[in-house]
Amino acid sequence: MEKMKIVELSKLITDELKAEEFLRQKGILKTFMHYPYCRNKHIGKVRRNFLKCFRCKQEWSVRKGSILENLKIPFSKFILALKLFELEVPVLRAGKELNLAYNTTHKLFMLIRERIYTATCGDDLSLAFWKGEEK
Ligand SMILES: [Zn+2]
Repeated sequence: MEKMKIVELSKLITDELKAEEFLRQKGILKTFMHYPYCRNKHIGKVRRNFLKCFRCKQEWSVRKGSILENLKIPFSKFILALKLFELEVPVLRAGKELNLAYNTTHKLFMLIRERIYTATCGDDLSLAFWKGEEK
């Protein structure tokens, strides 16, 4: 990846919508062109973090299928966590900086590490850093 400096990230982390868009551009959040189950393309955003299929009326989270699926933290905080991970800040310290519980931070860092490992098989860690899983 082109590594983002903190000063550049600061423009994203004060705005959840920008943070979300950034994560989508980087492929960390999936871009849904249709509802994954019925394949209907007539979908749209409903409420804050959900998409809806207007044919079968199903809703799903914009986080679905991404590393963020089972995490409750805001997008902006996730970006900061990625940055702290990249800077090799220890879990305990990162948790304090992010105002997150140790266990949450630990889980988050494990997921990031796992994702990088899966994406690269150890080849080029920096390249895959901001990338999502291909599925
Ligand atoms: Zn549908």
